[in-house]
Amino acid sequence: MAKHTVTLIPGDGIGPELTTAMTRVVDATGVDITWEVADAGEHVMAEYGTPLPEHVLESVRRNKVAIKGPITTPVGTGFRSVNVAIRKELDLYACLRPAFSIAGNGARYDNIDLVIVRENTEDLYAGIEFEQGSEGARKLIEFAAAEGAGVMRPDSGISLKPISITGTERIVRFAFDYAIANGREKVTAVHKANILKHSDGLFLKVARRVAEEYKDSGIVFEDYIVDATCMQLVLHPEWWDVLVLPNLYGDIVSDLCAGLIGGLGIAPGANIGAEYAVFEPVHGSAPKYAGKDVANPTAEILSAVLMLNHLGERDAAARILAAVRAVIGEGECVTYDIKRSVTGSTDGSVATQAYADALIERL
Ligand code: NAD
Repeated sequence: MAKHTVTLIPGDGIGPELTTAMTRVVDATGVDITWEVADAGEHVMAEYGTPLPEHVLESVRRNKVAIKGPITTPVGTGFRSVNVAIRKELDLYACLRPAFSIAGNGARYDNIDLVIVRENTEDLYAGIEFEQGSEGARKLIEFAAAEGAGVMRPDSGISLKPISITGTERIVRFAFDYAIANGREKVTAVHKANILKHSDGLFLKVARRVAEEYKDSGIVFEDYIVDATCMQLVLHPEWWDVLVLPNLYGDIVSDLCAGLIGGLGIAPGANIGAEYAVFEPVHGSAPKYAGKDVANPTAEILSAVLMLNHLGERDAAARILAAVRAVIGEGECVTYDIKRSVTGSTDGSVATQAYADALIERL
């Protein structure tokens, strides 16, 4: 049997309890994984002087594969997102977020099977910002006016939205390669090229060019404006197959899709680059539920399913997915969020670890 070492980043908020449930379930399949714990987030700052110590990145570089719980980002002030920093440092340029229906979870739809491919390194997430009142903001406002690019109010704060040919080519190729490898039929590029001509316009132009390279693959290519995409996702979620999006739209549309399939508690994800892969749920650290043993670990566990497939442990991955479908389908042993979706009340829901116990028993 293959042996694997995986970096485990428990994170904060509900992260540690979810990753505990996840490792228990994965270990119960009998796969041989050594979990190398390397933590990041505000709680490690006192010890290391940074929320993302270098040894965490070194561990991922050594093991090539990591799985993490969510990490809180202070709003407006404080340090930048550790999650975004990990993606940038390791050049995890593709964010993969499958959204598929799980029968019996109380979702509004039961016919969804789509995949979000979100560009992970540029766009408004590049972190290139100029604070209101700063020298940089003042210079940029003057520069834009002098160039005839447009007038910004002098009291503006500014965030830049860079989208490159390089970044777009590789994410669109990733989407097509994923579609081919996974028996998908269609790739849709999502954008706002009608308004943002030099960023989303470039994204669309490059996406069309890359699609030409794949014209004999049998994969259909189309493009859609992001706002229309949101409406059609709600009206006709079954239309969609693989969606490829710039960073910010990918972030927002994946939460929309999480809502369509029954909530953030069941939405898994992966950040993949040429060398490394870091698996994590779509949701955040949900601080109000931290330490209460009530959060739904399904998204974390399904992220582990993606990880097991990535490691070639397809049998273990399939068994966990089948256990999740069976336990949620029966409806006896589910966390508060699913119970509430199904019955309108959280009465009779079970704790995080009790749900993990039910999955382990099923395995
Ligand atoms: P969130 O996803 O943490 O929570 C929003 C709500 O969704 C929760 O209040 C809860 O009702 C529900 N929810 C989320 N996960 C759940 C689960 N596993 N089980 C049951 N219910 C669940 O979003 P937020 O409140 O906007 O963000 C909280 C913090 O997490 C912020 O600091 C944010 O920056 C951070 N965040 C981190 C990541 C990451 O680590 N990759 C992703 C998103 C947000």
